[in-house]
Amino acid sequence: MRAVVYQEPYSVAVQDVSDPRIEDPTDVVVRVTTTAICGSDLHMYEGRTAAEPGIVFGHENMGVVEEAGPGVARVRPGDRVVMPFNVACGFCKNCQAGNTGFCLTVNDGFAGGAYGYVSMGPYRGGQAEYLRVPFADYNCLQLPKGEEHEDDFALLADIFPTGYHATELAGVSPGETVCVFGAGPVGLMAAYSAFLRGASRVFVVDRQPDRLALAERIGAVPVDYTAADAAEQIKDLTNGEGTDKGIDAVGYQATVREGEEQPALVLNTLVEAVRPTGTLGVVGLYVPGDPGGPSEAARRGELLFKMGRFFEKGQRMGTGQANVKAYNRHLRDLIIAGRAAPGFVVSHRLPLEDAPEAYDRFDKRTDGWTKVLLKPAM
Ligand code: NAD
Ligand code: ZN
Repeated sequence: MRAVVYQEPYSVAVQDVSDPRIEDPTDVVVRVTTTAICGSDLHMYEGRTAAEPGIVFGHENMGVVEEAGPGVARVRPGDRVVMPFNVACGFCKNCQAGNTGFCLTVNDGFAGGAYGYVSMGPYRGGQAEYLRVPFADYNCLQLPKGEEHEDDFALLADIFPTGYHATELAGVSPGETVCVFGAGPVGLMAAYSAFLRGASRVFVVDRQPDRLALAERIGAVPVDYTAADAAEQIKDLTNGEGTDKGIDAVGYQATVREGEEQPALVLNTLVEAVRPTGTLGVVGLYVPGDPGGPSEAARRGELLFKMGRFFEKGQRMGTGQANVKAYNRHLRDLIIAGRAAPGFVVSHRLPLEDAPEAYDRFDKRTDGWTKVLLKPAM
């Protein structure tokens, strides 16, 4: 089959690889109809991780079940399904508590599993014609048959639940004000989720005019961080107080600049932008070490977080991979009921063969390239 294969920093190719097959009785093989490119793929694409050439990317996958192993009870061939990016077992302590992003089974007990992602276990990615899904009864969310809502449903694999998770970590309640750093697909989904939870005002910080325009379209206040300090702008807009809650949808890597000793952490600005005793939700990715980092400290993953300011303001913070399965059923039902339409972030639907160009454009944040969906059958 054809698949998107990592070659070297800033290069992927679409190549022939072996077809996936049922390996365990609880597996299914899914024929992929839509698979998205994510900001998380860019960490590997830009060579910031230990990802080896040859890895098939793709953790945001949906499709139709082609074949089911003998131990699969609920999911049947022909079912239209979307897979959380987390590969999870469903029976360990963390899965049973709903923390499927931290499954203790699938990746030798180490920080959860994912498809097509370095250090997240042996699971091949779904930017390909077919995908093997382990523990399929647990890891497939069934969808209405047909082709309706394909864009919206594809986002249930990661960024819609991840944006929602950010608001859960931050504890967004009705009437509250929220600032979101990053107007990438994840930040836009966090802002959208904040409104779903009843936020009164949402401020979205970025520098990309096209992305800020999308934030404005859903009712958020755009804040351009190149115009003036973002925290000062947000305080000015909230009677000098700062927002009740804050979300980091940037992460460490997006802020690293060539030659810098320490990255300018978005997190430090977030602490300033949120009022004392407010809560921060951090879904932007931070890594324990960055092999290509600009300094020794960055390579060791030691970041300068201003703990003193955080303590002084009595804030709290939640972090980590999203537990997609904790939210995807409810978010699916909001889509079906017509009460959520996250597909507004989708800018491109392209054949799988166009992946090299799509990665290049998305990575360069080319104007208008917000979220790319790849279609293996197109
Ligand atoms: P993206 O790279 O497209 O979006 C990042 C955005 O941040 C860009 O629009 C960029 O212009 C903006 N940005 C850069 N520096 C900034 C700054 N100083 N202040 C404000 N904005 C700034 O990626 P994405 O797909 O939206 O993903 C965002 C982050 O979320 C990535 O780190 C990704 O790995 C992470 N992520 C985490 C999870 C999870 O489960 N926790 C899931 C998906 C993605
Ligand atoms: Zn993703």
